[in-house]
Amino acid sequence: MTSWNLAGLRTGQPLSHYSTYEIGGEARFVGRPQTQDQLQELLEMAYRSGITPIFFGGGSNMLFPDRPDPDAMFLTTREMTEIKLEGDRLYVSAGMSMSMLAVIGYGLGIADFDFTFLLPGTVGGGIYMNAKYFDRHISDNLVQVHYIDVQAPGRIQTVSREACNFGYKKSVFQANRSSWLIVGAEFKLSSSAQAAVLPTLPEMVALQEGKQPPIRLTEFASHFIQWLEGKEEAGGVSSTLAPMRRIIQDRMGKMHFSYPSCGSVFKNNYSVGEPIGKLADQLHLRGVQRGNARISPVHGNVIQNVGGATAADVVDLIRHVQDAFDRHYGFVPEPEVVIIEGKTSSLHQ
Ligand SMILES: Cc1cc2nc3c(=O)[nH]c(=O)nc-3n(C[C@H](O)[C@H](O)[C@H](O)COP(=O)(O)OP(=O)(O)OC[C@H]3O[C@@H](n4cnc5c(N)ncnc54)[C@H](O)[C@@H]3O)c2cc1C
Repeated sequence: MTSWNLAGLRTGQPLSHYSTYEIGGEARFVGRPQTQDQLQELLEMAYRSGITPIFFGGGSNMLFPDRPDPDAMFLTTREMTEIKLEGDRLYVSAGMSMSMLAVIGYGLGIADFDFTFLLPGTVGGGIYMNAKYFDRHISDNLVQVHYIDVQAPGRIQTVSREACNFGYKKSVFQANRSSWLIVGAEFKLSSSAQAAVLPTLPEMVALQEGKQPPIRLTEFASHFIQWLEGKEEAGGVSSTLAPMRRIIQDRMGKMHFSYPSCGSVFKNNYSVGEPIGKLADQLHLRGVQRGNARISPVHGNVIQNVGGATAADVVDLIRHVQDAFDRHYGFVPEPEVVIIEGKTSSLHQ
C-alpha cells in the first residue's frame, strides 16, 4: 500500500465537505487530481488494487452515502481547471466551475455562457447531465469532449458533440457512467477572443492561485454575487451583467442557496405535461419532512437538508414522493440526483 502515497490522494475525508447537500460519511480514499498525469496515476493505482473509482465533480447533484464503501475511491475532477483559448475555440478541463465559465465569458466579451452564472457544479458534471437553465444547455456550444475509459486507462479519447446523444438531462456519459471519465471539453465561441486576455483576467489569476469557488451553497452564491456587484459598481458591460442579475433574482426567489440541497431532485416527465414541482404541489408535498430532510416550502421538486440530514433521510423522502406519484399519477419520477450506494445500503437508483 506504500504506493498509495500519490499526489492528489487524500484519506479519511468526510464526503459532506464535497457535496452541496453537506451529506456523506467519511470516505477511506478521495482522489483530487489537479492534472491529467495525476488522474492517470490514481486510476491506474485503483485499477491495480481492485479499488472502484466513483467519479464526481462539484458534488452538486450527488447524494453521498452515510457509510461509504471502503473499497471505493471517490474521485473528483474539480481541481482540474486548465483553460486554453485558440481563435474561437475554448478548451476547459472538467473541473472548471460552470459559474466561473460565465465569469470568464464576461471577461472575454462574449455572452455564450451567461446562463451558467450561479449554476453550481463543474463542466464535467454539467456535460454528464447536460445541465440547463431555462432553454439553454451546456451542450449548446460544445464541439467535442475528451474522456478516459477506465476499463482502458492510459489513453485520452474524444467524442464529438453529435455522438454525445444529448437530450433533456441526458448524455452518452450516463450510459457509460462507471467507465467514461470526462477530462475536458472544447466549446465554439460566438466570436474569436484574444488568447492573450485570458491570463490577465482577475478570475483566471485567482484560479491559478487555487482559489476555487466554495462548495457550500451560501458561500458559493455570495462569492459570485460579490463579483457581479463589483463589476456593476465599476460600470461594467450592463447588457451582459443584466441577465446575470436576473438569474440571481430567480434563484434567490426559489431559495436555491438558503439550505444545502442538490437543486431539483427528479427529472421532469414531459409526457405528463406538468413539471414535477407543480405535480408535487397538487399533492401538498411542500414542507413534508423526514428526519432532517424537508421538501422545500417554496419548490416541490427540491429536498433541503435543514441541518444534519442523513442520506437515509433524503432517500426516505424520495421514496415518499415516488410512492405518492405512483398512487396518484401512475408513474414513478426518475431521480436526477445521483445516489451512491453505501456499504450496507440496498438502494438502487
Ligand atoms: C442550488 C442548485 C441549483 C441547481 N440548478 C440547476 C439548474 O438550473 N440546471 C441544471 O441542469 N442543474 C442544476 N443543478 C444540479 C447540478 O448543479 C448540475 O446537475 C451539475 O451539472 C452537476 O455538476 P457537478 O460537477 O456538481 O456534478 P456532480 O454532482 O459531482 O456529479 C453528477 C454526475 O456527473 C458525473 N460526473 C461529474 N463529473 C464527471 C466527470 N468529470 N466525468 C464523468 N462523469 C462526471 C458524476 O459521476 C455524477 O454521476 C442545481 C444544483 C443545485 C445545488
